Amino acid sequence: MIYLDNNATTKVDDRIVAAMQPYFNIHYGNPNSLHTMGQTARKAMATALNQLYAGINARDNDDIIVNSCATEGNNHVLMGIYYDLIRTGKKKKIITSSVEHPAVSHTLKFLESLGAEVSYLPVNTEGLINIADLQHELTNDTALVTIMWANNETGLIFPVTELCAITHKAGALFHTDAVQAIGKVPVDVQASNIDFLTFSAHKFHGPKGIGGLYIKEGLKLTPLLHGGEQMGGKRAGTINVPYMVGMGLAMELAVAGLTDEDSRVRSLRDQLEEAITAIPDTIIIGKNYPRTPNTSLVSFKGIEGEAMLWDLNKNDLAASTGSACSSEDLQANATFQAMSMDTDLAHTGIRFSLSRFTTQDEITAAIKIVKDCVQRLRAISTYTKL
Ligand code: PLP
Repeated sequence: MIYLDNNATTKVDDRIVAAMQPYFNIHYGNPNSLHTMGQTARKAMATALNQLYAGINARDNDDIIVNSCATEGNNHVLMGIYYDLIRTGKKKKIITSSVEHPAVSHTLKFLESLGAEVSYLPVNTEGLINIADLQHELTNDTALVTIMWANNETGLIFPVTELCAITHKAGALFHTDAVQAIGKVPVDVQASNIDFLTFSAHKFHGPKGIGGLYIKEGLKLTPLLHGGEQMGGKRAGTINVPYMVGMGLAMELAVAGLTDEDSRVRSLRDQLEEAITAIPDTIIIGKNYPRTPNTSLVSFKGIEGEAMLWDLNKNDLAASTGSACSSEDLQANATFQAMSMDTDLAHTGIRFSLSRFTTQDEITAAIKIVKDCVQRLRAISTYTKL
């Protein structure tokens, strides 16, 4: 199988599997236990935390709360802001983009049902927001702006440093969902001055079921999970030490591999796009804007995305019609709807996402598979050349 669905999830690096292994069945102590087994696990956790701090350039006094996934991290920030600033009447509003992952957008819908006011910034047909719209929406009663670092469907990179500065000027806090940015573009919490940032190990060759929430020094959030004193009382629940070891190393390797991602992976992605644009009536969404180097969202006129996906799959190529989390739903996904794509375009989107394990041979083979597939499906559809 040629795997070009790395924005959905990634292969766990063999080095990471090996590093995690002993913490399942040899050093399996609870890191809160005082005996040697517990302390060995605790040391491994400390090393992993250091790797996470270094990976995003966090300060010593910043917090990184290790949790179960980015969905949890996003819920923690949004619910925490609701409990601390909105429910208490200090502020009223949260501002977001209309192309956030459901881990943000569905949580905000829930908060709206509890009385929070949420403003959704529109995007243009390429998926970009207008900075003037943010400036217009920011008022004294804005608690938080939450805008993703990079979009999971298009790979478009949002100017988070600039957005954060504008947000701070208005006295509000800034959160970014950096799930699709880590390991693809440099993420530096000090340079960007971001207040809250979420990430998830399985998007950068670590295991599924573990993620992190960065909180800038001096800021506090009501916990999402109450219980034991793990994570300094900020996130209860026994810590998954093997996965944390895996996430720490995954972060280190992801950051070390950034140059490769930007040159080798980008050039493979560009090769794929160049070959695809040679096929008549294809569009690459966001091609002329800053994008993550591994992602390509393509529309092949006249070919239903689902049909294409299954034909590619039959030919051993794994891609996606949209976010893996929503692809069971045959409706055009919310991101495409927000981008005001016409219905035809919205149903023809195929996302190819590469990783550091993608090879030249795979891209060469993928190009042939895609070309054959388009020819086959257009021959049996109502497609007429533009
Ligand atoms: N945010 C973005 C941008 C994503 O792409 C995803 C997963 O696709 C998530 C959040 C959810 O991450 P997790 O699976 O760790 O909950």
